[in-house]
Amino acid sequence: MTEELPKYIDARRALERRIKVTGKLSATRLGRIAEPFRAQEQVSVEAEFDNDDPRRPRLTGVLRTEVGATCQRCLEPMVIIIDRPFNAAIVKSTDDSQKSDTDDGDALILENDQVDLEQYVEDEIMLSLPMIPLHDTEDCHAEEPIEVSTRPQTKKAFLGLAELMEAQKGDKY
Ligand SMILES: [Zn+2]
Repeated sequence: MTEELPKYIDARRALERRIKVTGKLSATRLGRIAEPFRAQEQVSVEAEFDNDDPRRPRLTGVLRTEVGATCQRCLEPMVIIIDRPFNAAIVKSTDDSQKSDTDDGDALILENDQVDLEQYVEDEIMLSLPMIPLHDTEDCHAEEPIEVSTRPQTKKAFLGLAELMEAQKGDKY
């Protein structure tokens, strides 16, 4: 499980032999994971080249990692656990009929019989991430949103009242 996976895998050979691919991608290889997310842990990948139906070869498996992020409510760090099964059709870029035949949109395009495993894994991780990272409400360090929005106004109102009373005092005495 600790072997570093290659970026490209010869899919034709892998399908012929129905090989299983297990290994890791180091966090430094995930260059497209950007703020407020941080690739900080290696990705473990277990995948299998599935050639049961030779007309519809697939790459199936699961990837697991933890992505660091900054909560956009309290700006404290958080961790997003990713445990994502995948099932992608392996298609030739020129073969449009085969492409439209795939039931889901998940497809790995062959380039000279190679698949770009690194790019695919990174794509899958990015699809697993929320649009905006937020702690669960009970874990979040931010104050209640309603307090944040009303407090300045309330303070101002009390201040105004105090000033008014001062002014009235001044008038009376
Ligand atoms: Zn938070």
